[in-house]
Amino acid sequence: MRWEQKVQYATISDIGMRRKNNQDSYSVQLCSDLEVWREYGHLFIVADGMGGHAVGELASKIAVDTIPLSFFKSRAEGVQQALLEAIENANAAIFERGSQNVDFKRMGTTCVALVLSPLGAITGHVGDSRIYRVREDRIEQLTFDHSLQWELQRAGRLKPGDVFLPEAKHVITRSLGPEGSVQVDINGPHPVLPGDRFVLCSDGLTGHLKDPEIGMIVRELPITESSQLLVNLANLRGGSDNVTVVVAEVGEMTASASTSVDSDIETSTLPRPRYRATMGPFWTLAFWVAVVVLCIGGYMLATPNYIPGGILAGASLISLIVLLRHWLSHRKAVASGFSDVTINAQTYRMASARTSKEFMAGLAKIEGELHRIANEESWDIDWPTHSTTIAAAREAIDKKQTRRAMSEMGKAIDVLVGGLHAHRKRLRSTHISSQSGSTEALRGKDDRPA
Ligand code: CA
Repeated sequence: MRWEQKVQYATISDIGMRRKNNQDSYSVQLCSDLEVWREYGHLFIVADGMGGHAVGELASKIAVDTIPLSFFKSRAEGVQQALLEAIENANAAIFERGSQNVDFKRMGTTCVALVLSPLGAITGHVGDSRIYRVREDRIEQLTFDHSLQWELQRAGRLKPGDVFLPEAKHVITRSLGPEGSVQVDINGPHPVLPGDRFVLCSDGLTGHLKDPEIGMIVRELPITESSQLLVNLANLRGGSDNVTVVVAEVGEMTASASTSVDSDIETSTLPRPRYRATMGPFWTLAFWVAVVVLCIGGYMLATPNYIPGGILAGASLISLIVLLRHWLSHRKAVASGFSDVTINAQTYRMASARTSKEFMAGLAKIEGELHRIANEESWDIDWPTHSTTIAAAREAIDKKQTRRAMSEMGKAIDVLVGGLHAHRKRLRSTHISSQSGSTEALRGKDDRPA
């Protein structure tokens, strides 16, 4: 990735339809100058706090405040190490705060952090919030969910797609805060291409939208529109949890940047992580033991103690071949930049992000249903704007202009959702049950309980 590639982003953190407070937090820190970017990179964070009262809110807030402070001050060697230490520091800060007050004890939060740096995209995470990359016609999940469901699948005790217990899907196995130390996953650098879009989100989104749906929306729409439609859909399908979405888009190379000689020099002077090509004490000792045993075996063969000498020489030769193979693969890994610094550029799941007819039909159905209820319950709707957008959406559908159809349909839905929120607010303020019956009709089949 190059400094000249402008990064744009959109963020939304929404309370959802059923919770009383928003325990999600996020933070975005774009580097103000080239020097900072070369050393660190642009930083994006989403954290999803857990615990009663204001506890989860506090935990996620400490995470998104501590990580940037620690990261941009770090003297650690390499972005990965700086990010790792920043997340560990956030864990320590939350744990310490939790230990000071009995009400805050064992408070916790998930955390996903993305760094867009000269090396590429580097992720750090704990818990089941996610980072996706949307590129061309596919969506890839770059983070491994630290949930019981995913851990059971990894252990081979559950087939992909099977559900162990409905609750297990949302039980997380790691979080920041409850313990004094935490195991953080650092992945990357993943290559970054112009036009790549990254999505950071809490499980309030992924509990209601499937990966291909997130992919279609993020691929087709500008970032502000896509983040709004993602949140609206999560809410219309039940909004069982707080929903936070950060969408970042990596810009194209500018013509001057791709041709300028200065920029080429810049690339060669970019910071690169240093990798040690040493074998480590264990393997070095094993090597010398095998050599000594081989010599003893050779001496015994010459004495001539054929049988024991042959066994010793054979065993040590096999050991040396194994060591040699290990050494060669280690050298190859170091040469390609994947060394024992745990550089892992694996993606965990991939799905098509091509817009399907079913998805577009589903959007139209949601719009129709909302429209009907808005009329029945006399929501306060900006009807002229709605009429214009829905007419444009229908025209685009007829002309098979998928992108425009989704965009206009998304805007029409957004106008109606505005009316829905105003209606709910009015109901709450007049002390009528805050649980509007109208949203029930729009809930999907597989929605989670609140
Ligand atoms: Ca959540």
